[in-house]
Amino acid sequence: MTNPSVLTAADACMSERLSCSACCGIFNLKGSDADRRAWVAENTRQFLELDISVAVNIVQYRKDREAVTLPNRVRDDIYVCPFLGFVDTQNQKTGCLLHPQGSPHRQISLWPHPQNFSFYGEGICLSYDCLAKDRKAYTGDFFAWASTATLFAYARLASDHTLHRALGRFAGGGVSLQQFYTVVAHLYERHNVVTTSFEDIERVLPDSPEELCRFLAQRIDPSQVEEIAQELSAAYSACSSHS
Ligand code: SF4
Ligand code: SF4
Repeated sequence: MTNPSVLTAADACMSERLSCSACCGIFNLKGSDADRRAWVAENTRQFLELDISVAVNIVQYRKDREAVTLPNRVRDDIYVCPFLGFVDTQNQKTGCLLHPQGSPHRQISLWPHPQNFSFYGEGICLSYDCLAKDRKAYTGDFFAWASTATLFAYARLASDHTLHRALGRFAGGGVSLQQFYTVVAHLYERHNVVTTSFEDIERVLPDSPEELCRFLAQRIDPSQVEEIAQELSAAYSACSSHS
């Protein structure tokens, strides 16, 4: 079993216990995390029942599941992939049902390039790294926090380039941000924030904890910036005072 303390940016997409899938659009689906989990489970159930030796079955699956999924997106400019499923036997870890090595479908090896049945295609799906992962933007304690985080709490933050890059500018020096990460993840869940990994590169990164808290509050809910920024600042200060 992987020792959580040695997780690194290289494990950001998937490790022994956790997975992300933000770039597959998991948080762009409307609804609660229970709805999200049910959708992933239903994708998995239907896909695993298919005879994928017949190409048209995969094509039809995609068409049918897109008809359910695409009208339920939060943002219309971000795709939500119906090949996102659970790839472990306990339905705990999300991943790609078309992955040539990682798919749980018993017939996946019949296709040399199964992800080419998807919207993005193998060339993108196999090689894509979000900015946070590509730049190894995480501060040291993010993966320590992740080792006890829930699946979706972790996944919401793993692709958040601006959060990690900003923290990297001013949160060094042994500050342990575990409580702060938990509060950010809760707020993202409560306000249905879409973390996708396709964020724009910020021209001006938040340069202090106060700026970051206001930036995140604006992203979380522009109508409640003051309250949310205060909640975030309190969590950040609590971390600083305990470090
Ligand atoms: S958003 Fe980033 S960390 Fe998450 S699965 Fe995609 S590449 Fe990996
Ligand atoms: S086909 Fe691509 S976008 Fe879809 S779940 Fe697999 S990796 Fe994600």
